[in-house]
Amino acid sequence: MTILKIARMGHPILRVVAEKVTEEDFKSGRVKHWISDMWDTMMDADGIGLAAPQVHISKQLTVLGGLSSRYEDEPEVPQQVLINPEITSIGEETMTTVEGCLSLPGLRGVVERPKHIKVVALDENGKEVEFEAKGFHAIVIQHETDHLFGKLYIDRLVDSTSIGFEKEFSRYMMPPEQE
Ligand code: ZN
Repeated sequence: MTILKIARMGHPILRVVAEKVTEEDFKSGRVKHWISDMWDTMMDADGIGLAAPQVHISKQLTVLGGLSSRYEDEPEVPQQVLINPEITSIGEETMTTVEGCLSLPGLRGVVERPKHIKVVALDENGKEVEFEAKGFHAIVIQHETDHLFGKLYIDRLVDSTSIGFEKEFSRYMMPPEQE
């Protein structure tokens, strides 16, 4: 079990486009190794997703899903490994969600994203998968995929005042419940 150090906002690795995972990465066993360390790190940090650049690996690889007490009011997200993901939105509908990020500890912000997406990616074995995701599942995938392209949720706040520290956020800023 290896828990990796998480890069925080300000570290340049969070702001560059990560390299695609290659066949050589799979063959060498590196991908398996990265995934195993990323699960350990994500669980330890109580996150709902983690992207490789957040642990100083500039590759297009994310792990997500499972249970996190940080998001206990949200529907459960299936555990998935997504490699070299490509996302397209389906329809025009968007949803606003309160997002947090292990690279911005202690902060929460309100972000608007497409509600329904199509995902094409490789799984942990290098096999192509294609599926649709909706609601909170779609939000988590989009948040993690953003990390692979040098984006953070603060780039997508509904407005610049929609961010705060967790305690103040839950006390003063929680948006009304929405479906
Ligand atoms: Zn994040």
